[in-house]
Amino acid sequence: MADGAFTYTDGRVEPGETRNLRYAISETYLGDPVRVPVTIRNGDRPGPTVFLSAAIHGDELNGIEVVRTVAQDWPDANLHGTLVCLPVLNVPGFIAQQRYLPVYDRDLNRSFPGSRSGTSADRMAARLYDEFIEPCDYGLDFHTSTRGRTNMLHVRADMDDPDVARLARAFGSNVIIDGAGPSGSLRGAACEGGTPTVTVEMGQAHRFERGFIDRALDGVASVLAEYDCHPAEPVRWPGWRTVVERDQKTWLRADAGGIVELLHDRGDLVRAGDVVGTVTNPFKTETVRITAPFDGLLVGVLENPVVYPGNPLCHLVELDEPTIRAYERVQSGTMPERP
Ligand SMILES: [Zn+2]
Repeated sequence: MADGAFTYTDGRVEPGETRNLRYAISETYLGDPVRVPVTIRNGDRPGPTVFLSAAIHGDELNGIEVVRTVAQDWPDANLHGTLVCLPVLNVPGFIAQQRYLPVYDRDLNRSFPGSRSGTSADRMAARLYDEFIEPCDYGLDFHTSTRGRTNMLHVRADMDDPDVARLARAFGSNVIIDGAGPSGSLRGAACEGGTPTVTVEMGQAHRFERGFIDRALDGVASVLAEYDCHPAEPVRWPGWRTVVERDQKTWLRADAGGIVELLHDRGDLVRAGDVVGTVTNPFKTETVRITAPFDGLLVGVLENPVVYPGNPLCHLVELDEPTIRAYERVQSGTMPERP
């Protein structure tokens, strides 16, 4: 990109140009192309190249609206650099409104960076990766909770990598869950290939949730400001923040099959020993209580209120006492100073 153009096979997007294209990554049983929508916005001034992607799990919709809005509705406002906007990565899954690729239920998000001679999923991943991920300097990949559950907005990032940590903090979320991306995930492959990338998780599948979409758009503006792509002010401090390590989170699981009543919502603070929810039999004659093992925040909760033994009810992350105090100040309407 020495001359400032963004190039891909069969095309180039010049500085100051925005292009919407449908890029073929596979073929259907009828031999028709499977085409992924891509918008490339090349600013008229030089700067980093950033990808924004969504719906790599085909039923996780909130991110689609974030990426589409950035691609189409944002003012040009002195864009320095290039945005590669991929609102629907898993086109077959999106059409079927399901998480995985319909053929053999393959997870596109375990197929990266892909292979030109591998499975159908590998080949799709390879085309996406080589054309639109590998050329980027940073990336944001948007997800929601799996069907039947919901999440508060949080970022997942490998905080051991300073470039990834800078990106994660720039998004301005309260919660960052630390860890490398799973093998084969877009995030993991991009980070390994030299494109620092984080995952943004928010809300539930099969929905547009306006509050989350707006908060994520603020996060995108903050990230772009951090790298001087966009003349907004980055969110330096969201009032409180927790970076969750591996041993500071747990899934609270049902020990009995039954019907669930949760007594708290996503984003709620619970104290050690609090009853988070109950599992009852059909007659309500037997009740199993689920209690919080430590003080923390319910990052994810069940939406579909039925469980087998072992099914997760909620995802709890630990908060220390100063963070709890800051959380409570934000809840009561004041913005704490950065410590
Ligand atoms: Zn997902």
